[in-house]
Amino acid sequence: MKNIVLKNGTVIDGTLTNEPEVKDILIKNKRIEKIGNITNKEQKNAKVIDCTGMYIMPGLINMHAHLFGTGQPSSILGGGALQKIVIQFVKTPVGHKVLDALVTSAVQQELYSGVTTLRSVGDFEYSDIRIRDKVRKGKIEGPRMFCSGPAITVPTGHGDGTFATTKEKPEDLRKEVQERTKHGVDFIKICTTGGVMDAKEKGHPGELKMNLEQTLAVTEEAHKLGLIVASHTESPEGMTVAINGGVDTIEHSSPFTDDEAKTLKDRNGAVIITCSPAVPLAKLPASVTKLSDFAQFNSQVVLDNMIEGAHRAKEKGIQIGLGTDASCPFATQYNMWRELLFYTKLANVAPKEAIHAATLSNATILGIENETGSIEETKYADLLVLSENPLENLETLKDPKHIFLEGKLIRKRPKKNQKLDEAIDSIMAEM
Ligand SMILES: [Zn+2]
Repeated sequence: MKNIVLKNGTVIDGTLTNEPEVKDILIKNKRIEKIGNITNKEQKNAKVIDCTGMYIMPGLINMHAHLFGTGQPSSILGGGALQKIVIQFVKTPVGHKVLDALVTSAVQQELYSGVTTLRSVGDFEYSDIRIRDKVRKGKIEGPRMFCSGPAITVPTGHGDGTFATTKEKPEDLRKEVQERTKHGVDFIKICTTGGVMDAKEKGHPGELKMNLEQTLAVTEEAHKLGLIVASHTESPEGMTVAINGGVDTIEHSSPFTDDEAKTLKDRNGAVIITCSPAVPLAKLPASVTKLSDFAQFNSQVVLDNMIEGAHRAKEKGIQIGLGTDASCPFATQYNMWRELLFYTKLANVAPKEAIHAATLSNATILGIENETGSIEETKYADLLVLSENPLENLETLKDPKHIFLEGKLIRKRPKKNQKLDEAIDSIMAEM
């Protein structure tokens, strides 16, 4: 691969401490070889891209995505007879092919929109693992991937009957963890609480589903096997069980106590914020979302709780990551920029902090901060070149000028769902 020089761009490096600075970047053998003034001798035979007036930041890391969907609301997984037929079908060889095509499209949409590292947190039939391996072998183009395979839940838990495997007894839950290691998962995903759509009561989303014993069974087994555990957690009761039950990354989050904060911090745990489906579900008119009155109300409760969880995490010095929860209604595979923008508006943080959360902080939570997540010499050249300053306008992330994954220029761009984007644009305009 020919060396590349990004000339004269303003570098926003992904840290919270460093100020943006105009520099050159030399990319050699997939990595950032040098940052600073690249001499004529050093750039001889290299492809030189003039970045004058442009901004360079690390590639985005999406910490929470499901890969089977597009974000287009659908009633297929809404329970009932159709769901049963679909679930039977995806277990067949032809079903696997269909799933793999959906997942391939999803991971490529992510990459073509600037996500260079992606964590999948619950997909059907290990389709995420199959596609991850194809990407790793260079058979298909895609981002760096970390995958859980199917989530693990208990009867009536979130994902029961769809993207999760359901077990009740602690020893059976342990076996599910062991089963996943045979498939080569990178971590374990569980669902301690229900989700917005599972709730049966107004004002009480995120009902506790897994008890402490069940949660501990999973985390103990996973930790023994060297895997961390992520938990879908959408209520304060869920936070208590997830944190005391040994969970490492709390997905979505909710308010938690000082003692719980200390336990999570001592474990080096993290909170992953996912505003992307919660905001449209809470704010769009029911005629668009097709939600019942109480589901819409509950979406707002989940969103408020999540932001409160983010505030608590920040106050207590707990690592915060960002993800889109792609595949949920209104969470597409190409709108990570919206997550950053939602986070700045709702949690009242500066764009620099949102960029940090979506890059270096996410990399640190994944344990790959020495490889990617910031613009530093020796790290992989996972980079975005932007035409405007994202610290002033995060929307510029919607359409990166150039995307690099491990020094490779990614030329394709995602196919967007215009109608869906217009609906979300309308609520963003009012925020
Ligand atoms: Zn999720």
